[in-house]
Amino acid sequence: MAGDSHHPERAAVAALSESFVAGLREWIKIPSIGVDPEHRVDVRRSAEWLAGQLREDGWPEIEIWDDGPALPAVYACWPAADPGAPTVLVYGHHDVQPVDPVERWHHPPFEPVTSGDELYGRGASDDKGQVAMHLLAVKAHLAATGQNAPSVTLKLFIEGEEESGSPHLRKLLEDHREDLGCDLVVFTDTALHERDAPTVNTGQRGVLGGEITFFGGTDDVHSGRAGGAIPNPATALAKLIAALHDEEGRIQLPGFYDDVREPSAKERSDYAALPFDERKWLAHNGGGAQATAGEPGYTTLERIWVRPTAEINGISSGYTGPGLKTIIPATATAKLSFRLVPDQLPEKVADQLKEFVAEHTPPGIRAEVSFRGDGVPPYAISPDDPANATVKEAMELAFDQPVRFARAGGSGPAAVLQAWLGVPLVYLGATLPDDRVHAPNERVVVPLLLKGAEAAAHLWRMLPQANIAKRLTR
Ligand SMILES: [Zn+2]
Repeated sequence: MAGDSHHPERAAVAALSESFVAGLREWIKIPSIGVDPEHRVDVRRSAEWLAGQLREDGWPEIEIWDDGPALPAVYACWPAADPGAPTVLVYGHHDVQPVDPVERWHHPPFEPVTSGDELYGRGASDDKGQVAMHLLAVKAHLAATGQNAPSVTLKLFIEGEEESGSPHLRKLLEDHREDLGCDLVVFTDTALHERDAPTVNTGQRGVLGGEITFFGGTDDVHSGRAGGAIPNPATALAKLIAALHDEEGRIQLPGFYDDVREPSAKERSDYAALPFDERKWLAHNGGGAQATAGEPGYTTLERIWVRPTAEINGISSGYTGPGLKTIIPATATAKLSFRLVPDQLPEKVADQLKEFVAEHTPPGIRAEVSFRGDGVPPYAISPDDPANATVKEAMELAFDQPVRFARAGGSGPAAVLQAWLGVPLVYLGATLPDDRVHAPNERVVVPLLLKGAEAAAHLWRMLPQANIAKRLTR
């Protein structure tokens, strides 16, 4: 592949790398734990730090959005010199996860430590590292092209409550619809498959969580006086749970698979070409399980990325204390969650679950089904989408090796952003699945962030030539 002379972006990133790491360390020191009310002030300080950095970098329009119920979000815009250039919105978040159990950290979580090419600290990977990576990319893009404005109009939208489940994201999008108008969203909160197997993510699963309760009587009753003559809610619930999957693991809600989109042959061959060590995966991600299990006809990666799930998260009923208590419990409850794939909708799956529960409620039992919020819709973009193909090309330039498409099994606000803004959303990040995000000793691999910054710098240069659809109204 081309040397540095063909990669002015690479040279520009290298020249800026030291100040990049110094800046990221400063940002990590601010404990912006959004879910903890005691750290509200730190979330604000974190937003202010970011706004200050953007000012220093020369962004002409910077705002901190803190006038609504949402924790402070940062918005910035840098118009392209060419008013006809596409507009790209970069999404990320600056709030971080709590740090407990703090005794499991090798160093204080908000005092960043460098070890070899890794930088340790809460938020180093999720998501401050990847937001800072994009700031670096813009500087490198300008330095490499010698321009004083980017080749595309760049907008930045950095949320302050992603780790709280983005409760006010829809309101922010509604309140700032004009500001956020764009032709493409670039989602930073994502990871590569492995250090030596760079990937472009093309989607995330959605999620719907709920609870089923079966009620028998109003009180527990004596199993000798009434047993055998009244229905047992725990038994009825166990039967329902057993009926949720067939023998082969297929989910039995009526119509559950009707909207499931099969991955293309190209996607499946990309997934199959990725390095994957099942034993290692079981040890790191499978909680030490002894074997994989799931739907026949799909690989483990496909089961996680492109197939929906129904999982029982917890069951409670009756007496579970020491000794024996001979009762028929009054109630039985199961918490469950579904991971959804395109084009399943959480509200439709909610109706399917209600129908399934009604079909499996025996006479004499009353059922209640409730849901935690509206759920998160799934999202996926075709590898053939012109913007997505350009991201892959930019990544291949930066990583000097073939880049494959992948997906993520978890859930995030991608579908909400895509639906509200009405434009395609692509992923560009450079962290790793084993960065221990949300866990003690979170780290980021600095050379990967530099590669990611180079990829983004290539992307800003290449996008005006890519055939991405421009929005008709802006
Ligand atoms: Zn995140």
